[in-house]
Amino acid sequence: MSEVVDPATGEVVGSVPATSVGEVDAAIARADAAFRRWRAVAPGERARVLRRFAAVVDAHLEELARLEVRNSGHTIGNARWEAGNVRDVLDYYAGAPERLTGRQIPVPGGLDVTFHEPLGVVGVIVPWNFPMPIAAWGFAPALAAGNTVVLKPAELTPLTALRLAELAREAGVPDDVFTVLPGAGSVVGERFVTHPAVRKVCFTGSTEVGTRIMAGCAAQVKRLTLELGGKSANLVFADADLERAAATAPYAVFDNAGQDCCARSRILVQRPVYDRFLELLEPAVRALRVEDPARDTAEMGPLISAAQRDRVAGYVDGAKIAFAGSRPDGPGFWYAPTVLLADSPADRHWREEIFGPVVSVLPFDDEADAIRLANDTEYGLSGSVWTRDVGRAVRVARAVEAGNLSVNSHSSVRYWTPFGGMKRSGLGRELGPDALHAFTDVKNVFIATEE
Ligand code: NAD
Repeated sequence: MSEVVDPATGEVVGSVPATSVGEVDAAIARADAAFRRWRAVAPGERARVLRRFAAVVDAHLEELARLEVRNSGHTIGNARWEAGNVRDVLDYYAGAPERLTGRQIPVPGGLDVTFHEPLGVVGVIVPWNFPMPIAAWGFAPALAAGNTVVLKPAELTPLTALRLAELAREAGVPDDVFTVLPGAGSVVGERFVTHPAVRKVCFTGSTEVGTRIMAGCAAQVKRLTLELGGKSANLVFADADLERAAATAPYAVFDNAGQDCCARSRILVQRPVYDRFLELLEPAVRALRVEDPARDTAEMGPLISAAQRDRVAGYVDGAKIAFAGSRPDGPGFWYAPTVLLADSPADRHWREEIFGPVVSVLPFDDEADAIRLANDTEYGLSGSVWTRDVGRAVRVARAVEAGNLSVNSHSSVRYWTPFGGMKRSGLGRELGPDALHAFTDVKNVFIATEE
């Protein structure tokens, strides 16, 4: 058993069994057997089951959100959005089984058609920063395409995934079609990689672990989606609506206490407006409500663990602090939102993913300089461009090497649109209209028509 802690108080809120390798193998064998049945369920019926699952999640939205607040320290506002996102993603992919059409390709001598065949058992490995949405981005399209799913939540945040598995059963998802297996990455997660019956791994987490998983999957040519780290840039040009850019910048990085792979943790400001931008940013950061995440007014909660708080503090030690916001006193793993001034792009806090409420600011000269600095990173997940010049917005959005760009906004994740990283931020895309194809293999069938 491993204990689950409330990060806002440091108190133990429950304990969860750690699945052993033998139990993982047994669960994968059951999921493999269930696959033969689930793939044979008519598309319309599979769609109905997923819609019922979405409806049951919807009926338990507040319960799931409260559970996430306790287990992960997310603000209640965020947690409600996250539970709603699970419902929406299920609803969205419930529309897919009946639309998973292949193609008819003109060829001589016969009829040629393609099918999108499900893969088999899909192993989904989830990090602790967004336990509910990231789980759903894997399991919903995987199930819709006719696969069965074994899912491993992060050690620190297993509670909502376990509850979702119960809700799936309540909704009529058949036995062994969706199984949640809490436990260690080195035990449960590794077994997803090495077990031959798991035909795809869908991993979200650190680039370090993702790299190992990719190497492991290579041994079996196992399909793989990776959603990894980020160090995204928020580019503020001199012609931007500076008030809006400054008012929104804190939310683009301090949301979820900065534990967000899409966090715009590098702010690049064009030199003529650099001082003015910082002047506007300071009150916005100081006004951020860092408080008990269960309160409706909370805008930022604690970090996930004491270890994460200490890691974050290590980046700030010795760095040039421009200003910082507030944090509650007392127990829990709190860290005040902090703005650092980078001396150069070589600064450690500028280069490495901090995964906490710390943002670094650096001036730039012109468009070419902005693009060069934005791309001077091994990551490429997301980014924002603030300018009133439409041509520049498009040029810069095209030039930044990242999977998800937003102009005059900080939006990254919409379930209708593809999400994922370039460079070392990942491989493949989740969400959007094409995600189902990542959970299928194309089969081509030729039928001779000549006598
Ligand atoms: P992590 O890599 O330590 O763990 C992620 C998951 O992998 C956990 O469930 C863990 O138990 C499991 N795991 C650990 N070792 C494993 C192994 N050897 N084999 C199989 N599974 C293993 O990451 P974390 O600290 O939980 O999450 C933070 C990281 O996730 C950050 O780097 C962040 O940027 C990234 N992230 C990326 C996205 C994205 O979509 N790109 C989204 C959220 C988080």
